[in-house]
Amino acid sequence: MSDYPDLHLYINGEWRKAKDDLPVLNPATEAEVGRLPRAGKSDLDDALEAAEAGFKVWSGTPPVERANVIYKAAALMRERQEEIATAITTEHGKPLPQARLEVIRGCEFFEWDAGEATRTYGRVIPSAPGVRYVVHHQPIGTVAAFSPWNFPMSQPSRKVAGAIASGCSIILKAAEETPAGALHIARAFHDAGLPPGVLNLVFGSPAEISDHLIRQDSVRLVAFTGSTAVGRHLTTLAAQHMTPVLMELGGHAPVIVCEDTDVEAAAVSGAIRKMRNAGQVCTSPTRFFVHERVFDEYLDAFTKRAAGTVVGNGFDPGVEMGPLANERRPPALAELVEDAVAQGAELTTGGKRTNEAGYFFEPTVLANVPDNARVMQEEPFGPLAVVNSISSLDEGIEKANSVPYGLAAYGYTNRADYADQLIERLEAGNVSINTLEASLPETPFGGVKHSGFGREGGTEGLHNYMVVKNVSHSIAIV
Ligand code: NAD
Repeated sequence: MSDYPDLHLYINGEWRKAKDDLPVLNPATEAEVGRLPRAGKSDLDDALEAAEAGFKVWSGTPPVERANVIYKAAALMRERQEEIATAITTEHGKPLPQARLEVIRGCEFFEWDAGEATRTYGRVIPSAPGVRYVVHHQPIGTVAAFSPWNFPMSQPSRKVAGAIASGCSIILKAAEETPAGALHIARAFHDAGLPPGVLNLVFGSPAEISDHLIRQDSVRLVAFTGSTAVGRHLTTLAAQHMTPVLMELGGHAPVIVCEDTDVEAAAVSGAIRKMRNAGQVCTSPTRFFVHERVFDEYLDAFTKRAAGTVVGNGFDPGVEMGPLANERRPPALAELVEDAVAQGAELTTGGKRTNEAGYFFEPTVLANVPDNARVMQEEPFGPLAVVNSISSLDEGIEKANSVPYGLAAYGYTNRADYADQLIERLEAGNVSINTLEASLPETPFGGVKHSGFGREGGTEGLHNYMVVKNVSHSIAIV
């Protein structure tokens, strides 16, 4: 794809290549689309030095000025929507209309946090005359951030927005499989006049980069989105340096479908949402627990809609689902399907990789899956749904909470008492009723249990990037 960007590292306000590079592939064709520079130790050291200097400048920049730079960068990304979306579809495979929406969502994350930059209010604590106690929020320092490949532009947006809006500097290691989204963010900030060193972008060996960055004293926060296994590893590294972490990790979202709901509409919305981004979403609905009275009708409608998903190259008109993002994903899904069927699950559609080039996997529905199948505990992170029946709301909630994850959880009901039970008892950072939306710029997003800690977005988002300083000021010396 000729309009795929020339890839660079971005350090101290300058673009640079590196000694080594890596291929970037189009997952729909497996063709090489670019070469990605691989940062060496000296590149990382330059980024650390630049970020330290950038922090000094940026933390002293008035919040309104910081917000204006972010608004300008977001406006540039909106202007460049088509160019960025094309790059995303090329490197990730998702349908072009979904890539366009992702660019807008990324801009919305920036715009929300830009507004919040001017509202990181402190607090005055009542005190005796002649004394003041004032709580301030100050930027934490240099952030080392790691973003994954499932949303090449909106995932890094979250972290860059939080850091830059708070007055921090950031070294972002974006996903090697999908570098162009992050590259376009860096371009927009460069063109919007962000001072050198505030945003630095690197790629390379994830383990080597995280190991090198996290052990530096100048790195004051580690922000990661990805699997629980890697999150646990990075949290352990950070703990050795008493560095706080923001961890947005895996999910295995349950959907409880109550008997009073509009069954057809719930099934169709569930199947469409499941296949969005080929199921490679941490909030993707996966374990559907459907009341036995409506189970057959639901499974039938869900299977039909899932099987009817138009799969193909993301550039082809009408395509609803592209390939999986990299070659690791099809075998991982095939193994989960095989295991579930061996344990007695019924495969109602899909279940295998397709024959053509590219990492395509069929939209897949497994019904009546036994609790001991791997897929009941492991996040499939792909176009795979489990539809099981429940005999009561209590059973549904118990099954929903039976995994170590707690990111998103959903319910369909029109009964206020059922909704109340779902809201109160589901163990998740984000609970949604009659909608499968879980993550917006203005709402706090994050997990409980093994899904991580800290929140992105909402008024809560910037707090991760700031430290509290209490000031006691007495007029007289006491
Ligand atoms: P993985 O566990 O190897 O990697 C997950 C992410 O972490 C990738 O972006 C990778 O580049 C990064 N990573 C890996 N090792 C690292 C290290 N030592 N230091 C810093 N970063 C590191 O798995 P994968 O095959 O890339 O993805 C599969 C699993 O990852 C999925 O099953 C899903 O659970 C999880 N994932 C979650 C999200 C999310 O949005 N929460 C996004 C992508 C992947």
